[in-house]
Amino acid sequence: MTTVHDPTEAIRELLEQQFRAHTERLTELTLYSRQPDRGGYDPDTLRALMETARKGIADTAQALRRMSDGTYGRCEQCGDTIPTARLEILPWARFCVPCQRRHQD
Ligand SMILES: [Zn+2]
Repeated sequence: MTTVHDPTEAIRELLEQQFRAHTERLTELTLYSRQPDRGGYDPDTLRALMETARKGIADTAQALRRMSDGTYGRCEQCGDTIPTARLEILPWARFCVPCQRRHQD
């Protein structure tokens, strides 16, 4: 039992957990979409939920890939380090806060 707290390791676990959760969600929604009553969802809601799950899978998979190639935690725009506090809230963040803002404009 180690007492050393490695934030990156905690974030990786979180990402893996979220990746699995989104994948399971998408599998479940895909099954619903093939049922005549779509699991009780209206088509637009179901489509939106599937889109969210797909985006979640893509975001978390990308973040995990950046972790394995060593570019995780670096802003893709300016190359600055993304603060750990931000990554703990938004582990799939690809940009630092200023770049993210510019990105959304
Ligand atoms: Zn940046």
